[in-house]
Amino acid sequence: MSNRTETHRFQAEAGEVLDLMIHSLYKHKEIFLRELVSNAADAISKRRIESLREPALSLPEGGGRIRIETIPRSRTLCVHDDGIGMSREELIEHLGTIARSGTKACQQALKSAGQANSASPAELIGQFGVGFYSTFLVAEEVEVVSRRAGAAEAWRFVSAGKSEFRIEPAERAEPGTTVSLRVRAAREESEADEAEPDWLDEDLVRGIVKRWSDFVEWPIFLGEEQINSMRPLWTRSRDEIKPEEYQEFYRQLTHDWRDPRLWVHFRAEGTSEYTALMYVPEERLGDPIEAMRGKSRLSLYVKRVRILDEAPELLPDWLRFVRGLVDANDLPLNVSREVLQANPAVRAIRKRLVRRLLDELSRVLQEDRSRYEAFFERFGSFLKEGVYAGEDDEKRLEKLLLFETTREGARSSLAEVAARLPAGQKQIPYLVGPDRATLMGSPQLELLTKKGIEVLLFTEPIDEFLVPRIGSVDNHPLVPCEEAARELVGSAEKEAMEALDREQRELLSAMETQLKDNISSVRFSARLSESPAALASEKGGLSPHMERMLKAAGQPVPEQRRCLELNPEHGLVKRLMQEPAGTRREELIEVLHGQAQLSEGTPLADPGRFARLVGRLLA
Ligand code: ADP
Repeated sequence: MSNRTETHRFQAEAGEVLDLMIHSLYKHKEIFLRELVSNAADAISKRRIESLREPALSLPEGGGRIRIETIPRSRTLCVHDDGIGMSREELIEHLGTIARSGTKACQQALKSAGQANSASPAELIGQFGVGFYSTFLVAEEVEVVSRRAGAAEAWRFVSAGKSEFRIEPAERAEPGTTVSLRVRAAREESEADEAEPDWLDEDLVRGIVKRWSDFVEWPIFLGEEQINSMRPLWTRSRDEIKPEEYQEFYRQLTHDWRDPRLWVHFRAEGTSEYTALMYVPEERLGDPIEAMRGKSRLSLYVKRVRILDEAPELLPDWLRFVRGLVDANDLPLNVSREVLQANPAVRAIRKRLVRRLLDELSRVLQEDRSRYEAFFERFGSFLKEGVYAGEDDEKRLEKLLLFETTREGARSSLAEVAARLPAGQKQIPYLVGPDRATLMGSPQLELLTKKGIEVLLFTEPIDEFLVPRIGSVDNHPLVPCEEAARELVGSAEKEAMEALDREQRELLSAMETQLKDNISSVRFSARLSESPAALASEKGGLSPHMERMLKAAGQPVPEQRRCLELNPEHGLVKRLMQEPAGTRREELIEVLHGQAQLSEGTPLADPGRFARLVGRLLA
């Protein structure tokens, strides 16, 4: 009975799934070739493995090849292999049963992929075992002729997608499989139709194979020419790879024309086996948006076949500047996003990848400081993001951070700053502002500088947010510099200031009334030496810099009224204390306040008026 042509129906719902799939994947049609090549490579590997037990099945001399052939006359694209082949039952079982891992689930995933763009449809295809059916993305009709290794007869499977396929006896001289696609004619995009590339164009075919299947472990031929390089760099041992080869591979991988800054290459063995090759580029490759948010983007290979272009599960998002790949040995070829997310092995891989990258970075930090600083200049903010994300349980990342400080010269690590604190100084002070130059002119630094205490200069938006995460460094808490300065003022000085506050109550009250829209209170302070006045935040309040940034970003900011502190030793303040109430005193007060705002980087409401008042004062 098996010698007649038989027509079968695809398993229920198959037609609908095919339709959906073709609909969802129209932009990613070229992956059909990846699927066919992977199947062919698997079949050859299977034959090799089976032949270990049954020598009769051995690959022929020079065998183990995948051959792609284009036949323009009949608009046919063929993929030949001399692999294990399929019996009649296997053809029906493997190719006649669509989406074996669950037709329903597949339907649903494809439907939602049409709406949300969570996983790209191209990734879905492998997930549900619809690999072979991707041929219908480009073919009007698909014919498979296969002869199982060890069997004498061959079989033909023919289908035009839709709902039916045909099985009939066929001829084939050697074991193996040929998949022939009668591809759709090439056409330009029109109003009614999507463009259809010319699938018989050999350059196109070569490009697709290069892109997706370059490292397949069996040779792929197009005509006489082998078109895959086969031996992926990362499978070779580290000490036999030259730096130029790493660099060349990086350029292939990223299309970046520069050399990578550094790379990490290792093989993990044991519970899960995989190889990772990760690069840090010379400069940021992503667009500015990527700098702010985005997913990490290592590629995932399973046994040298590229499965996912970008697998964000492999690295935390803050490592999104890293490029490269993981080639896993024990994940299934049709591994899905869901599987990746839930898989404890993947979590372990991720942890290990992060650790290895951080190890490499700390090595560079220790051995080649200027090289590390150049790296940090470009990518430091990503590391800070990692700290902020709370993904630094072991404080390894924190040790890799560098900050500007009031000390001249290069940036310092937190530990270095802590180590340089004068004996007895408990806190590490920080000051927040737009850039080093502005901060260096701030009156907040005066007392600390006088006492020889180094201050961290936080000039990146994220810096201030790191404080709660970092807490303290070697038992030295990070505190805003006003707070640190206040602590430094001795109790005798404090009492003197309080006495002055009482003595000058009339003046201070007049100032508080005049400045009530901006200022909560006015008092004397011993922490200023150069400047006449400075603004101090209430404890726990936002820094003025943060306040400006939040406002600029259109965020609601709770009203931040601050305290105006006066330096009783300063000439201007002395003059103020002698000035009788009246217009002149009011102008003097206005100038003092404006000057305090300017020195912390807050723009004035009416700079013209300020300039006139200062001019009058000087005259
Ligand atoms: P997947 O490859 O994800 O299992 P496919 O739909 O691509 O899904 O293929 C289904 C099955 O058909 C394969 O698992 C394999 O058993 C069989 N098959 C496909 N192509 C070949 C081939 N060239 N040689 C031998 N068997 C094949």
